[in-house]
Amino acid sequence: MPPLTTSFTVNGRSYSPPAGPVVALCLDGSADEYLDAALARGRMPHLQRLAVGGFRGLARGQMPSFTNVNNTSIVTGVSPARHGVPGNYFYDVARGQEVMMNSAQFLRAETIFPAAQRAGRKVAVVTAKDKLRDIFAAGLIDVGGIAFSSERAAQAAPATHGIGDVETLVGPTPDIYSGEASVYVLRAGVRLLAAGRADFLYLSTTDFMQHKYAPEQPEALDFYAALDEQIGALLELGARVGITADHGMNAKQRADGSPNVVYLETVLGQRFGPGFRVILPITDPHLVHHGALGSFAQVHLPPSAAPGLAEVLEFVRELPGVTEVLDQRTAARLLELPPDRMGDFVVCSGRDVVLGRTPEWHDLSLLEAGLRSHGGRYEEMVPLLLSTPLAPAYAAKAQGDPRNFDLFDFLCNGTTA
Ligand SMILES: [Zn+2]
Repeated sequence: MPPLTTSFTVNGRSYSPPAGPVVALCLDGSADEYLDAALARGRMPHLQRLAVGGFRGLARGQMPSFTNVNNTSIVTGVSPARHGVPGNYFYDVARGQEVMMNSAQFLRAETIFPAAQRAGRKVAVVTAKDKLRDIFAAGLIDVGGIAFSSERAAQAAPATHGIGDVETLVGPTPDIYSGEASVYVLRAGVRLLAAGRADFLYLSTTDFMQHKYAPEQPEALDFYAALDEQIGALLELGARVGITADHGMNAKQRADGSPNVVYLETVLGQRFGPGFRVILPITDPHLVHHGALGSFAQVHLPPSAAPGLAEVLEFVRELPGVTEVLDQRTAARLLELPPDRMGDFVVCSGRDVVLGRTPEWHDLSLLEAGLRSHGGRYEEMVPLLLSTPLAPAYAAKAQGDPRNFDLFDFLCNGTTA
């Protein structure tokens, strides 16, 4: 057996994992309120022990507070300015096309996984949504690692996923629109670990339940209790566990329950004329979650006869519900985003407000039980938990401005024992 204490360096960051198993969890959409609600009711006894015996705090996620952006940051350890994925979606100005970024071809940085595998670890990455698998699997399968999704568990094959018997190992493929799609991801981690087939894992769930249920609703509490059971099993197997989230989640509706939307393309068109292009980087194939409505937008000015940028920015800043408007250069600097995959300016909205294109573009009938979503500043802070106590330097770092994409740093380098 090769030594398991080998260090490795990726994107200028060094990792020295312990010899034993290491498991990083990204609990999609887990605002700290979800953990609080479940912990207060005694529904997460394993997490409670973990928090007391190890560390529980908050970390700053990456803006915009969307899934692909943050998962890609966590697995590369760097911001989108470096890794190149600023949303689920961007407008390719040169090609005149709106492009979905669910493929590794958009990555400008390596993930830490191939390096960990080459250093002698048995790496496995499990995600709920298959859309993330290609990014997570980049360069990993070729060096002997494993990467699959619960959404397409049955389709995993050794040549393409590094594993072919997922359903035998974990159970039948779950419905992606279910809590089980996420519990399955953690259970897969438990089974891979128990079978000795992996010792360095990244497990990333989906936020279907958080989009649908508020923290104190029974369905959410049952869901977190089910996750807790699997966290307990990981700890039982001797894993060092680190937990964070990609973003939080807030209700985005008016008092009467209707979605609280600012339709940017509509209002810009009414004020300045046609041609504005509003890109909503939350857009993905899973529209039932959020109707493509989030609290962040990239806006491209009309290609010809554009009004002055300053005038447009001033107008948007005055719109009720809008909290932040930044020109491209300022947004790229402050939010650490790649300028060539941005609009001319970005817009963020309030805790209970989302941004849309036009009323016709969004199918609000998909939103069965009110609108809960994310994307802005109010979903930026996320939980950070480690199962072992922090070493002094990392305890100090946790008091500063820790990022959710420092998860592997904290997990590999930051804890004692
Ligand atoms: Zn997410």
